[in-house]
Amino acid sequence: MTIAGIDPSGGAGVLADIRTFAAFGCFGTAAVTSLTFQNTTGVFGAEHQSADCVRAQAQHVIDDMGIDALKTGMLPTFEVIEETEHLITSNKLRNIVVDPVVRSTSGYDLIDSKALRALIRMLFPLADLVTPNIPEAERITGISIENSTDMAAAAEIMRSFGARNVLIKGGHGATILVDGGRKVARDYLYLGTDLVELDADYIETSATHGTGCTLASAIAANMALGKGILESSRVAKNYVNAAIGTPTGLGKGNSPIGFPRRFVGEAK
Ligand code: PLP
Repeated sequence: MTIAGIDPSGGAGVLADIRTFAAFGCFGTAAVTSLTFQNTTGVFGAEHQSADCVRAQAQHVIDDMGIDALKTGMLPTFEVIEETEHLITSNKLRNIVVDPVVRSTSGYDLIDSKALRALIRMLFPLADLVTPNIPEAERITGISIENSTDMAAAAEIMRSFGARNVLIKGGHGATILVDGGRKVARDYLYLGTDLVELDADYIETSATHGTGCTLASAIAANMALGKGILESSRVAKNYVNAAIGTPTGLGKGNSPIGFPRRFVGEAK
């Protein structure tokens, strides 16, 4: 299940999550936290859903079908975050991937400051994995991340907020490195205090809409299939890299990443 926002253009949010679950042979379900109005050029507004609305969407599905993993994305308000915490604890949900969505690439705030503090306090301790990108990790920790020492400090702060495992995603700033002439996007996966570096070729493109949602969903799908966090993160990184490498070319702005069909069923 994904608890996240709808991006009607299909690039990010629930539609990207469900597409990704399907790519790994998982049957996706969803509770929508916000109807956003956006396309590849930007986000124009949003209608956030109430806690009751989110609970009703999720609880009937959980009661009837059960779920093997949960990915959370855009959780725009304190009430929705509190409800998500309640859904996780009261249903004893497992394989929880929390993508701490803060702001769209185009600069639209997808969560308010009070809600972000609640997300950290209530959901970090329940997550098996938290997946910030560099701007999100900087906003959450209040430190500026310029190198691997800063990265470790940021991970340590997030651990002090209760996050057991943290994946700081590659693709921004200090995560883009040159390794023997090869440009790589490095993900920093902190499993407790152990660091595992996950590298992929850096692809020079602005067509990256949906990468964060897709990565977190691919990890959750693989965890639903019984893989551990490390293996799920490796498979997910390869999937996202293949998706960036097969761009849709849609829209006039930051177009959505593709849907690399060769991955379908590969996780089995
Ligand atoms: N819209 C929704 C519903 C999202 O969940 C997200 C990110 O998670 C975004 C927009 C932002 O995507 P991007 O940073 O690619 O603009």
